[in-house]
Amino acid sequence: MTGGPREPGADPAPGGADAAPGGTDAGPRTGDGFQTMWRDLARIGRHAPSGGYRRHAWTPADADCRAWFRAQAAARGLAYETDRNGNQWAWLGDPAAGDAVVTGSHLDSVPDGGAFDGPLGVVSAFAALDALHARGARPRRPLGIVNFTDEEGARFGLACVGSRLAAGQLAPADARALTGADGVTLAQAMERAGQDPDAIGADPERLARIGAFVELHVEQGRALDLVGEPVGVASAIWPHGRWRFDFRGEANHAGTTRLEDRRDPMLTYATTVLAARKKARLAGALATFGKVAVEPNGVNAVASLVRGWLDSRAPDEETLAAVVAAIEQAAAERGARDGVRVGVTRESFTPVVEFAHELRDRLAALLGGGAPVPVLPTGAGHDAGILSAALPTAMLFVRNPTGVSHSPAEHAAEDDCAAGVSALADVWEGLACR
Ligand SMILES: [Zn+2]
Repeated sequence: MTGGPREPGADPAPGGADAAPGGTDAGPRTGDGFQTMWRDLARIGRHAPSGGYRRHAWTPADADCRAWFRAQAAARGLAYETDRNGNQWAWLGDPAAGDAVVTGSHLDSVPDGGAFDGPLGVVSAFAALDALHARGARPRRPLGIVNFTDEEGARFGLACVGSRLAAGQLAPADARALTGADGVTLAQAMERAGQDPDAIGADPERLARIGAFVELHVEQGRALDLVGEPVGVASAIWPHGRWRFDFRGEANHAGTTRLEDRRDPMLTYATTVLAARKKARLAGALATFGKVAVEPNGVNAVASLVRGWLDSRAPDEETLAAVVAAIEQAAAERGARDGVRVGVTRESFTPVVEFAHELRDRLAALLGGGAPVPVLPTGAGHDAGILSAALPTAMLFVRNPTGVSHSPAEHAAEDDCAAGVSALADVWEGLACR
């Protein structure tokens, strides 16, 4: 077992010793600064029974994370600001000078999320700044570190709220009306946390000061592990969407209705799930039915309605459209045999995000030192993807040996975290110090 910043499932020991590195890696170390930051952050919002984190936007745990960010900025003498949407910024140099090179990520989590998704990018940013100072590098451009608020959307159901608002991709009134399961609106939650919900909205002047945004993130897959590399550069975020499939049959008695007399939507649904898997596999795409609702949902009743939600992602929009069309066709053909009506509604769609090629290639050259660096796509959305419409953005991924994410088992080895910090420092040095 490799030592890492946090062993999943470990109980927090007094003084947060669970967050300390295992120390069994032979590779480079992340340094005391990284370890101290990691340990302090690891105490916040941890749900002991699951070993995961519950750092939902505008909750007390989120406030503690935000206080931590502010303290890190203060400890380094960085200028600190919270923008109109609640995103936090720490600056070395005057951002008004423009052409800033910004890195960072988010500190919020999904329910019982892992320690790395988000925080690794923020902690690594502060550690990279320390590394840059240790190298004696002198920035010629302003350097920024950001914590985007409400990236996961765990509380109000919409991801990347902070960056969407800043980029003008989410109407303020729509954002304010977002409502969590507890009935609290985003506006109310912001107000309670001391942030003015009436001030939210597009922030073009702030984004115009940024020449490049580079987000470091734990990989949410195994591509780096499969090629044996600790750090990679993102090429694109796959287009993805959600489709609701309604399978309408006829409720009937499970004990008295002859099989040939049934109109059972569960059969059509089951066949469609298998078809989705096959179509995705053949196309090099992903297709998942992860949520289902059944009516009347009785053990001894043939269902009248099965509703299944398809999440599908693919390398390009053409492939995605073809996969979903093939799944729809399979559902319709089987439905005709089963006497089941099939209706499909697209509930959301996010087009492909191609990260800026020039910045991506620059990063790959800076990190490789002549050797090729893995350049890989991802199926997950990120703030960097949202901002890519407004300014040059790029992403670095740090190896995740199991690929598990959005789970307490999410993990990165200490030497890989150190490689990520070093890569970020290389990026800053290469882009801003020469
Ligand atoms: Zn994330």
